[in-house]
Amino acid sequence: MTSPAEPEALRVVVDLNRCQGYAQCCYAAPEAFSLHGHEILFYDPAPPAERRGAIERAVQACPVRAISLQAGPDDGDAP
Ligand code: SF4
Repeated sequence: MTSPAEPEALRVVVDLNRCQGYAQCCYAAPEAFSLHGHEILFYDPAPPAERRGAIERAVQACPVRAISLQAGPDDGDAP
């Protein structure tokens, strides 16, 4: 039995030393980022590939560029 090719998970890293709790990422990708209180950011470090667009918007929206997005560990031909 073969399984269909699954889209790769993404890898999200937030530099919490840079994060200032502006919450722009939470508006851009609420499924992946949430702010608890005013400065505790929770995020999904391995969101599914279909969330790439929203995550990329979050990366662009972050005023302090604290978010980085990478392809999954097997990524060999990222554009
Ligand atoms: S947008 Fe940037 S600074 Fe604001 S909560 Fe998200 S990661 Fe932190």
